[in-house]
Amino acid sequence: MLQHSTSAASRVAFNLSGRTALVTGASSGLGVHFARVLAAHGADVAVAARREDKVSDLAQGIVDAGGTAQALRLDVTDAALVSEAFDGRRFDIVVNNAGIAFNGPALETPEENWRQVIDTDLTGVFLVSQAAAKAMAADGQGGSIINIASILGKRVAGGLSAYAAAKAAVVQLTRAHALEWARHDIRVNAICPGYIETDINRDFFATAAGQKLVARIPVRRLGQMEDLTVPLLMLASDHGRFMTGSELVVDGGHLVTSL
Ligand code: NAD
Repeated sequence: MLQHSTSAASRVAFNLSGRTALVTGASSGLGVHFARVLAAHGADVAVAARREDKVSDLAQGIVDAGGTAQALRLDVTDAALVSEAFDGRRFDIVVNNAGIAFNGPALETPEENWRQVIDTDLTGVFLVSQAAAKAMAADGQGGSIINIASILGKRVAGGLSAYAAAKAAVVQLTRAHALEWARHDIRVNAICPGYIETDINRDFFATAAGQKLVARIPVRRLGQMEDLTVPLLMLASDHGRFMTGSELVVDGGHLVTSL
């Protein structure tokens, strides 16, 4: 009923006070945004990057804004560094955001680039998720793991075969982990963003080729980082407590373009 939907009981606020969070690949783009959003809603956030100095300004900025954050050195492809990052620590919320892409035809993709993409985008998610889930299961407090996949995990585009394969595997890994870890009160979900405007792609999307791509998105615009804010908060917070093994597509309708 309308009356009920406008009542105080149905109003939603995201409160992550008392929660700890880890965001991987937090030195640029979406990772910076995710870290700021989680901190702004009360979480104590570890902002992780391969070079700690690259995230110390972000951590300081969050603290200056009244939040709590620390910089953390973490290469998601390095099992030793991953276990060091979790040594004596547990995180309630883990955002597997670190990712790379290799652009080039499949016929000419060097093995080294293939391995780099799979190592970072897939094995990195496995290593961080396993370490996070072990800590969450050990103290029985559970938690929420959010994997940043892509619409390229659900469809393909030319020149991105390794990336598309890795992201599709991340979607499937999300489901497998959700199934196995629900008994530990660990929720595992994926966000599949469409094209989101960030510092590294802004110039490209302003070109004629970039604009051509944008014209194929049904809503005729790029996503903005803010478009991912509520999906992230919903999965991170107790408001998403009945969601696990799901994938949230946030793409302006890009996946439903006509065949
Ligand atoms: P980005 O390049 O700005 O961010 C990726 C971050 O991952 C960088 O800070 C990079 O240093 C870090 N990283 C790379 N390898 C790492 C490693 N081994 N260990 C730790 N960190 C590492 O790009 P972005 O657009 O902000 O992408 C963030 C995530 O969102 C990625 O997983 C990407 O695939 C995904 N995504 C982005 C878009 C988009 O349009 N921007 C769309 C769909 C999915």
